[in-house]
Amino acid sequence: MTPQPDKVYALAFGAHPDDVELSCGATLLKIIDEGHRVAVCDLTGGEMGTLGTVDTRRAEAELACRRMGYTSRETLDLGDSELFYSKENLHKIITIVRKYQPDTVFCNPPDERHPDHMKASRLVYDACFYAGLQKIETRLDGEIQPPHRPRHILYYIQFKQADPDIVVDISSTFERSRSGIEAFGTQFHRDDKSGQPVTLINRKEFLPGLESRARALGEQIGTMYGEGFLLSALPGVNNFSALFPPRP
Ligand SMILES: [Zn+2]
Repeated sequence: MTPQPDKVYALAFGAHPDDVELSCGATLLKIIDEGHRVAVCDLTGGEMGTLGTVDTRRAEAELACRRMGYTSRETLDLGDSELFYSKENLHKIITIVRKYQPDTVFCNPPDERHPDHMKASRLVYDACFYAGLQKIETRLDGEIQPPHRPRHILYYIQFKQADPDIVVDISSTFERSRSGIEAFGTQFHRDDKSGQPVTLINRKEFLPGLESRARALGEQIGTMYGEGFLLSALPGVNNFSALFPPRP
């Protein structure tokens, strides 16, 4: 059998660097704790963000990668605020899906405040489907890639509130996930940033707000913290008692 050095269990896409850490980082850490490989792909370098530069954001993304323990992280540079639906962009994402051959894909939700998030959601969903079609040819390092369709697509929840289809207990990883978020130092509030433009996410209240949401979702499933997801398809139950465990 052909070796699959890049194969991962989970591949998380984000329109911008930090989308993944802010929205599903604690779940990714949980997956890594369970012994699986996780890779991240940022569709853009976040170059249109109010704060930070392309270079600082790339360095921050690499720092977050090391802190979180991803197998790898790459940036496609499809164009922050120019993330258009095109055959070229679709094929670049298909190439990533076929490279990592994930069982599970995480991506931006379909209904969101930032247009790039919605466009990323559509592009990634479609790329995951088309990556399974043999007659769509993509190449990596000159070699034709075999088709691959991920089994599961989960949409994480960002700015716009949504009722999740599932909530993951992230009590064991929530604190560690903070260090992944804090790797993006240019984006969030620090006391020495007086005089800088105020953005949605560098307000003092933003990170405590994220924690409140995680607490509220945890409350709904009887744990300290939770991370919610929307599902792209109805999940089937195989191991019933794993989903509905007996009391310890
Ligand atoms: Zn974003």
